[in-house]
Amino acid sequence: MFNSVTVAVALVQGIQLATAAYYDSFKSGVNPLNISIPSIPQTTSYDLATECTSYVPDPSLFNFTASEWPTVWQTATSNGINSSAEFTTLYNSIAWANAPNIPVRTLNTDGSMNTAGYDVVNDPNCWWTVSGCTVPKLADVNKDIYQCPEPATWGLTYDDGPNCSHNAFYDFLQEKNLKASMFYIGSNVMDWPYGAMRGVRDGHHIASHTWSHQYMTTLTNQELLAEFYYTQKAIHLATGVTPRYWRAPYGDVDDRVRWIASQLNMTCVLWDYDTNDWAVGEGETLQQVQTAYSNFIQMGTNGTMASSGNIVLTHEINNTTMQLAIDNLPNVLSNYKHVTNVATCQNITYPYFEQTISFPSFSQYLASNSSAGNASTATGGAAGSSPTTSATSTTSGALSLTSQVNAGLMVLMAMVAIAVN
Ligand SMILES: [Zn+2]
Repeated sequence: MFNSVTVAVALVQGIQLATAAYYDSFKSGVNPLNISIPSIPQTTSYDLATECTSYVPDPSLFNFTASEWPTVWQTATSNGINSSAEFTTLYNSIAWANAPNIPVRTLNTDGSMNTAGYDVVNDPNCWWTVSGCTVPKLADVNKDIYQCPEPATWGLTYDDGPNCSHNAFYDFLQEKNLKASMFYIGSNVMDWPYGAMRGVRDGHHIASHTWSHQYMTTLTNQELLAEFYYTQKAIHLATGVTPRYWRAPYGDVDDRVRWIASQLNMTCVLWDYDTNDWAVGEGETLQQVQTAYSNFIQMGTNGTMASSGNIVLTHEINNTTMQLAIDNLPNVLSNYKHVTNVATCQNITYPYFEQTISFPSFSQYLASNSSAGNASTATGGAAGSSPTTSATSTTSGALSLTSQVNAGLMVLMAMVAIAVN
């Protein structure tokens, strides 16, 4: 009897601790279960200049005080964030004495990574940039994800969004019933919040791609914490959900970066095939990238993917990369048995800290008898509905979350009462 009391009390305390998690103070005017995106030319047009005209978001959906946020496209400690009360409290909540003592790296004058003095052979810091290491040398950090385990499965991922001109691309994904993992940059979310709303509304799996997209191993511990934290806060502000997963820009991650991400309960998702699509015109020709796509597509039927799937690195970064996706996805779909996001292929049914939106496990996705993984919601609604063009504002998602937590607390407190009695 005493043990059951202890367990129940611990559970209650666990819930109470969870309510004090860093993301619980995040605010949003968006209910992720019921997102209506205002119908303005930027959200409906296929014309690049029209889509990418700056807009002032509806304050009932997306409202923030600029002085409380880093400057977009600068390191997330900018705009006085490094000394703000909010960030200082977060920083001081972390047991830095346990942080690994790994040096901050530097870039060479040509922009390449300076690896001088690093033991590349033994790779003591599991530094992906020099070794491709994905299994940390430290025990207390989360291991990277870099592959979909099931055979003939294409892990669909797009980095660097939300891109202001993604309407045609997202419409295409919707038409094909494809749900991708979308790695959003915090600065882009602040600039184009309706784009982030669309990602969640369409049932894509949203993850973080840092605030300002820098080589993470070159940032200090304080800068890394801010890059993670403010991207989490921005994605929550725009969508009502907070990601558990992130991807390192350029794949530049080591055990110091992983340790800090792990303090925020975040796990890195990398890839095992890289199309280099972002580099068209910057060192790669369109034909070279198309050849890479074609080779990866053939792997779906030539035996390469007979015992496992992949995760392919592709980008939302510009219209060239999005058109490459539109051109190649029909062949991906015909050569691979399954084309789905990382959450579904890894059986991550709750890829956000909030329990509002769930994703199908891989077996549920198979049972749906569809070529795509459909995100479902806690209330059973379809997340991948048709584009909404009404200008309706949405209710706050915080209300339902709070009531869920309160309901959980009441159940557990009832357990305590029963156990004590
Ligand atoms: Zn990127």
